[in-house]
Amino acid sequence: MQQQPPSDAIVDQPPRCDECGLLLRHETRTRTWTYKGHAVSAEQPGWYCASDPAHEPVYDEADIAATEAVFLGLRADVEGTLSAAEIARIRRRLGLSQRQAGKLLGGGPMAFHKYEKGEVAVTRAVAVLLRLLDRHPELLGEIPGRLGRAA
Ligand SMILES: [Zn+2]
Repeated sequence: MQQQPPSDAIVDQPPRCDECGLLLRHETRTRTWTYKGHAVSAEQPGWYCASDPAHEPVYDEADIAATEAVFLGLRADVEGTLSAAEIARIRRRLGLSQRQAGKLLGGGPMAFHKYEKGEVAVTRAVAVLLRLLDRHPELLGEIPGRLGRAA
């Protein structure tokens, strides 16, 4: 085994609790998100205070990334739309490139690139169509203007 260079071996000091000053511990707790009266729970990694569960946890970048899709998904469900991650998942499941999806389902060649980056929200109509195709991918063949292989 190679010895790690010292720069890689440096471990950041855990953050301290804002409320009691105790060093926080990295662990996973159930967290609940709410949106317009709807709630969803998921396991949230984070830095938590051992002295009082009510003390405000600290979430680092990786912690936030781990559950980023949870709230976005809840909001999309409540609003009847789709999150960027869901759109990408469904498109891939249908075997379409971003360009092909924009051509076939409407919106133009850049539409799915923008949806999947979260730059543009899908309309409710596109969301409904994608949800249907997610459940019944065989319906893709029923859409007029089915693309050729070269598209
Ligand atoms: Zn504390």
